[in-house]
Amino acid sequence: MALGAKKRNSSRAVLGIHAACTLVAFLIVASLAFVLNRSVTEADRFGLTAERKLVESEMQHQVDAVVQYQAELSYWDKSFAQLADRTFTDTFVKQELTDWLWRDFGFSWMIFADASDRTLLAVENGRKVDNEMGGRTLKWVEDLIEKANDRYEAALVAKGGGWALQSIQSDKDALVAPLPNIHAADLRMIEGKMSIVVVQAVVPKTMGIPAGRRKPVFMITIKPFSERMIRDMEDRLGISNLGFSPLRQVPKGSIHVAVSDCSQPACMVAAWTPRAPGSFVRSETLPSVIVIAMLAALIMAFIAARFGAVFSALQNSEAENRHLAKHDRLTGLLNRSGFDDVLHASLAKVKDRPFSLLCLDLDKFKAVNDTYGHPAGDAVLKALAVRFADRVADRGVVARLGGDEFTIIVNHTVSRADVMTLANALIIDAQVPVPFEGRLLRVGSSIGVAFAPEHGKIAREIVPLADQALYLAKNRGRNRVQTADDLIHPERSAQTEQAA
Ligand code: GH3
Ligand code: MG
Repeated sequence: MALGAKKRNSSRAVLGIHAACTLVAFLIVASLAFVLNRSVTEADRFGLTAERKLVESEMQHQVDAVVQYQAELSYWDKSFAQLADRTFTDTFVKQELTDWLWRDFGFSWMIFADASDRTLLAVENGRKVDNEMGGRTLKWVEDLIEKANDRYEAALVAKGGGWALQSIQSDKDALVAPLPNIHAADLRMIEGKMSIVVVQAVVPKTMGIPAGRRKPVFMITIKPFSERMIRDMEDRLGISNLGFSPLRQVPKGSIHVAVSDCSQPACMVAAWTPRAPGSFVRSETLPSVIVIAMLAALIMAFIAARFGAVFSALQNSEAENRHLAKHDRLTGLLNRSGFDDVLHASLAKVKDRPFSLLCLDLDKFKAVNDTYGHPAGDAVLKALAVRFADRVADRGVVARLGGDEFTIIVNHTVSRADVMTLANALIIDAQVPVPFEGRLLRVGSSIGVAFAPEHGKIAREIVPLADQALYLAKNRGRNRVQTADDLIHPERSAQTEQAA
């Protein structure tokens, strides 16, 4: 393979290593981003679910609180006694209803009515008002009165000529006294305000109801959510912008839970701005993620650089080894193995491309070694290798098979006559003294030439012929060229030479 192609392959492989490392770094960064994104999404999802549950149970808690407040009166012997004649004394109203119950609990309405919605007493914002006004308010809560009545009826059992409410399982660990389950409660819009509505029959604490008082009187309380209550809820739950609105008008960016029956068009929801814990997760983890991503990128860049360098070095050393396997260390010419490759390639195409094989051996080279030393001999070999290669140039290839023996393959474009001219020029090149350490070293050369395919189509035929021609040249006095033809007709060539 040509050196350029090898270099191209090597740089392509290094490029591949860099691309693979970049891909790995990208995958690490992408998976970090994915994990971060998932964490943020999951945190948000988890946060939203938790917030919804919190708000729902807070709403329930608010309703339960009103049920408890209301029970102070509706589940009380004194109020049950008062209602024996279906009315309250003014003193009772003042002391128990308009004063502390209004002041402390902020009920906008307290209405006492029977199951047929007949108002017995109505208190609005702490003031006793006309029963008719109370009756108008009852239209918001008729269904709840009906439900409370059903529950009251269901809980009622005959006892000792009268009635009693089914006993309540009391829990000794409970903080508040258990209430009979006869109330109905809901959240709904009343007079433009989201309110808690509780309806419960007034019963004595003993839960014994005389025969004549089976029909109950209901206490209906309406407690609007005040600004203060809403702010307190926000503080308790750690949320913001809590408010009530119809489902279709939930503010953008808010989440909500239904506080009324959302199968109805008038569905109302509690909406608030979510805390979005994901943004907290993101802001907390993003710096570490960036650092890890940068580290991963740096490590991969380092790996790419190191592997690339090692790979390049390996490729270079392999290319060098391959080169050395086919080339002579001293002169840089092809060695025997390299020459064999070229010879076999040339023989494979010899039918279309006849070529010439020159075997060249230096004359009296040993004397240089013996007289001036091995380095002097080396200098001669190197200098002549350059001269021979320059002389042959692109007309063929020059190889050093070992010692002072060279071979040259001259390609098909050169005619036989020109081959002979070239061979003679090589002989002159070899005779030109080689300067070495202030001296001029002199050698000569003999050449044997064989022509393929005429003198052989395979290496085993043509190489010995060129060799023999070389030895003929040696025998005939050195510094000359002989061809394989001269071996066949030695007299003819000797005569030709003499004539010359
Ligand atoms: P002839 O004219 O018959 O060719 O004889 P010659 O003196 O050239 O000697 P011959 O070709 O028989 O032997 C070649 C010598 O080259 C033998 C060896 O000592 C020497 N030689 C072989 N390899 C190297 C080398 O790499 N460097 C040097 N300096 N000498 C070498
Ligand atoms: Mg020699």
